[in-house]
Order: sequence, then structure tokens, then C-alpha cells
Amino acid sequence: MLYTPYRDFLAKVFPTYAKIRKLPLSGGMTCPNLDGTKSFSGCSYCNNKSFSPVWDLAKVSALDQIEQRLPSLKAKHPKAGVLAYFQPYTNTYAPASHLKEIFTPVLNHSDIAGIAIGTRPDCLPDDTIALLAEMNLVKPIIVEVGLQTSNDKTLVAINRKHSFIEFKEAVERLHKAGLIVTTHLIIGLPGETLEDFKATAKAIKDLNVAAVKLHPLHIVCGTALAKEYANAEFELLSFEAYCEAAAQMIHVLGKDIAIERFSGESPDEMLIGPSWAGDRERIIREVEKLLSLML
Ligand code: SF4
Repeated sequence: MLYTPYRDFLAKVFPTYAKIRKLPLSGGMTCPNLDGTKSFSGCSYCNNKSFSPVWDLAKVSALDQIEQRLPSLKAKHPKAGVLAYFQPYTNTYAPASHLKEIFTPVLNHSDIAGIAIGTRPDCLPDDTIALLAEMNLVKPIIVEVGLQTSNDKTLVAINRKHSFIEFKEAVERLHKAGLIVTTHLIIGLPGETLEDFKATAKAIKDLNVAAVKLHPLHIVCGTALAKEYANAEFELLSFEAYCEAAAQMIHVLGKDIAIERFSGESPDEMLIGPSWAGDRERIIREVEKLLSLML
């Protein structure tokens, strides 16, 4: 294999299951970058409606969401283990005592094999990490910490409201507590070049995270980037430039880091561009072809 696919990582974490399927859930939390704690405007590419099917389920308990959504997943994949995936917003943005109330019933659910939790590096205080480490003794806990780029100038420009060093320290503290860490990176943020993408891959490799999601920058409606794009303030990568960058990043990341994804997913009605962002099979074919030339 030219890279380590995410399914191989899942097979190691969940050796008793032939297959694992993610079940997206909402933990009912918001985000410090949206509620005014850090900013009201959020990351410049962010529209939770575009990347989570459960963005609007904040008022439904996690157990009720499982009851509503699990039967169709089980019907499609009867033998698969289920990874509960707290996806939209920031799923550790609450006191540890409240997080315990949200996560414990899910952890104890007989159909749930483990939990993946999407969050930000500045929402992982010591007591939260201690809670996650305690849960990890019961079933595997995967902490997805968003980064997007290791370039601090870009992090400021896209209004992430945290630095690379905050991400690095959060990952190190999570690792010290025995937790599995994965991350998200965006390829093609305004002002970045192939050298920036490779520098981000190298920084992630050095931190030894378990898996990475790579996305092309895709513009969705209702975001600050949509306005900047409409004003022609930057250009999107071409399909070819994106695949070249993804292949080079995967080459730098090496086979110790699994690749969870390298295409984007947004509902058609929300996607402004690029039109090929969700063309998963075409992207995979091209990236694999480029990777094979690097051997
Ligand atoms: S941290 Fe996540 S939820 Fe919060 S503004 Fe950024 S992308 Fe949106």
C-alpha cells in the first residue's frame, strides 16, 4: 500500500470487529469561536451545516440520537462496530462534569464500540483530559483535534483563534494521558503554497498523531471565505494542484499516520467551489497515481 488507509488504523484499535462505521452525534455544545468567548464570527471557512448531518440536534440527547439513527446504520452494516462520533461544533466545550453526563451513557451503550470526539486545542483542560483518559479504559476514545495548518500567520488569517503551539501542547497532553489523537488539515488556504502544506505535514508527523483528514479548501455559503472569494481576494487550487499537494503531504506523513480522508464533503446546494471537491474516487485515483511515482 502507498499509504496507511484509515480502515487499517481502525482494525488495530478495534481488533474484534470486521468493520467500523461512524455514527455522527451532536453533544449539544457550541464553540468558543462562535459564542463570543474567542469570537462571534468563527473560523473563516466554517459553516457547521455543511459538514455535519447532526449540526441541528443540540437539544436531542445523545442516547435519543442513537435510538433514532442507529437502526438505519445497523440495517446497512449489520456486522459493523459503531464508533459514536461527536462531530459538530466543539465537543469538549463544557465543564468535565457535564461532559461526563453526555458521554457516559454513550460509552455504556452495548452497540457502541468506541467514541470519537471532535474538538479544538483550547478546549482540553486537565480535568477534561482526565475524564477522557478514564473513559478510554472502558472503550477506545479518539480525540480529533482540528488544526488546518501549522502556519500561525494563516491561523490568524482564517480566525482560528489558537496557535500551532497550543495545538502541539494539547496533542502532547492527550498522548501523555494515553489517548489516540487525530487531526484535520485543509490544503489550499489563502496565501499558502506547497512548501506550507509540506511544512504542516512535517509538523504533524513530528507529533505522531494517529490519523489525518485532508480536505481541499472548499468554499461554502454563509462563510467569511465565501465573501472573500466573491471579491476575488484569493484563488482555489486546481484539481491537479490539490492532488499534487495531497500526495506530497501523504509522502511526508509516511505510513505511521493513517489517512482518514482526502476529499471534501459538502451538500451540493451549499458548495460554492471547487466543483470537484467531493469527487472522491477521482481524487483518490490521482493521488495514488502520484504517490506511486514517488516510490
Ligand atoms: S472551531 Fe470548528 S465549530 Fe468552531 S468556528 Fe472553527 S470550524 Fe467552526
